[in-house]
Amino acid sequence: MPHALTGVIASRTSRGIRATIGENAPMPVGEFDLIAKYFSRPVRHAVLGGGDDCALLQPRPGMTWAVSTDALVEGRHFLSTVAPDALGHKALAVNLSDLAACGARPVAFTLALTLPRVDEAFLAGFAAGLYALAEAHGIELVGGDTTAGPLTICITVMGEVPPGQALRRAGARPGDDLWVSGRLGDARLALEAFRGQAALRGEAFEDVRRAMERPQPRVALGLALRGIASAAIDLSDGLVGDLGHVLRASGVGATLRLADIPHGEHVAACTEAQRRVCLLGGGDDYELLFCAAPADRERVRAAGAEAGVAVSRIGTIEVAKGLRVVDGAGTSVVPERAFDHFLAS
Ligand code: ADP
Ligand code: MG
Repeated sequence: MPHALTGVIASRTSRGIRATIGENAPMPVGEFDLIAKYFSRPVRHAVLGGGDDCALLQPRPGMTWAVSTDALVEGRHFLSTVAPDALGHKALAVNLSDLAACGARPVAFTLALTLPRVDEAFLAGFAAGLYALAEAHGIELVGGDTTAGPLTICITVMGEVPPGQALRRAGARPGDDLWVSGRLGDARLALEAFRGQAALRGEAFEDVRRAMERPQPRVALGLALRGIASAAIDLSDGLVGDLGHVLRASGVGATLRLADIPHGEHVAACTEAQRRVCLLGGGDDYELLFCAAPADRERVRAAGAEAGVAVSRIGTIEVAKGLRVVDGAGTSVVPERAFDHFLAS
């Protein structure tokens, strides 16, 4: 930690950070003990991992770094009821999703962790979920920062991509097909269920909860779409909002076909109004939204097959700016507003 307010230092030195292993026998665990215990696995690819002032990374010859940061704040991005290992998974997954959207291959990440207290059960679960996903993607933790404060997890991921091959938001051309991976809306439906605004029980609730808590970053699809997709973005804030970023960056418009948006049985069972909210406005899907020329439809399908993920054509890029959404009968639908941290109620 580079700097801290004097009051924070005083309170930390006078009381220490107390571990909560058993109410009766609190054991002081310091910042460096917890880093050593939970976040210091040896690195295999980095020149130097955590433990010094900087990590040292050697990009492969001729590669460009792709770098992205996402912070997760308790109560904003996750509920306090989330299992620690699911939180470890999701914190890294949302970052890997950004690399996927750029067609970058993940290499390394850093972890800035702000914790209200040292809770060993939480840390063990969090580290397990985090490292499991890291290992699945051959990516390693190379450093970070650990401070006391409201629970916040900030991860920076680094990936590599050949120069000029990164997928960008700008690049969609009129006439391109609009595609999406996987299925949308389950994570938003889980949020509605947690808020008591959707009645889901048993297996159905567990299904959508898994989608919300354990998103699968579409890294393999992003890699397979290099040289095929004209533009791409990952869906974190809702389809309409994220598509808007692509349209503005590319200087184009689009028509989106609501009936073609892929979704599962639980979203299908919702009311029409709720389904629209889940599909058009719901965030946290972490699927890829991308554009490609109609001549490349077979290549897109092959990329999906190679990555083991479904891809669906849901609209068309057009010259006329703005977004038009139509239902199955071709009637206009008013788009849902995207999630915005400062506009949301
Ligand atoms: P500095 O004082 O140079 O900022 P710190 O005291 O913050 O260093 O951290 C000491 C070492 O531990 C650094 O190498 C840092 O990268 C690593 N580190 C700190 N927190 C974490 C964490 N949450 N996960 C992984 N490594 C960490
Ligand atoms: Mg530091």
